[in-house]
Amino acid sequence: MAAANVVSSPTVSVDARLNPKALYALEAALVSVLLLALTLAGFGPWFHEGLALALTLGSMGAAVPAMALAHRAGHELRRDPRQLGGGLAKAAVLLAWGGFLGSGIINNLVLYLLFPLFWPVLVGLIIARFALHSGDTRGEDAFLATFDRSSQHAPCQRCGRPTHLDSGSWRSDRWYCPGCASPPKGVSA
Ligand SMILES: [Zn+2]
Repeated sequence: MAAANVVSSPTVSVDARLNPKALYALEAALVSVLLLALTLAGFGPWFHEGLALALTLGSMGAAVPAMALAHRAGHELRRDPRQLGGGLAKAAVLLAWGGFLGSGIINNLVLYLLFPLFWPVLVGLIIARFALHSGDTRGEDAFLATFDRSSQHAPCQRCGRPTHLDSGSWRSDRWYCPGCASPPKGVSA
């Protein structure tokens, strides 16, 4: 069935599996929300400012790796459509934003983000983020659009040769067959 011009799988392909980064992202996001909940539970006659600050900073600190992991998981899930965890990654992003903003409002750190002086910095960061990612998602979008689910092949984005998911690799945010990907390096995710 496999044509001579097709790069097939070297091994038997594995069934759908959960993306570990999506799971870690959800765990970190839950820690962030839990610390926020503990802070809220501490309000009352026994309120301790130092403890509240520590808890909210911990909550914001946990939200950052949660968002970063969910972001990486999103890329990995687009690059390997067999993996599961897209829902977990989305839930992690929502929970992490909730924990980050909730804690940031309590300890007033979010107020700094609302200063008009800070807005040009914010706009710059957003532009930089999308500029860095435009090529990234273009390659992934093209890969997904041409990926064949039943044969698990997608054409190499350099030479166009249909390449199995377990045989090709990502170089500079593009899907390459083994021939185009040389010199071989570590697997990028
Ligand atoms: Zn190629």
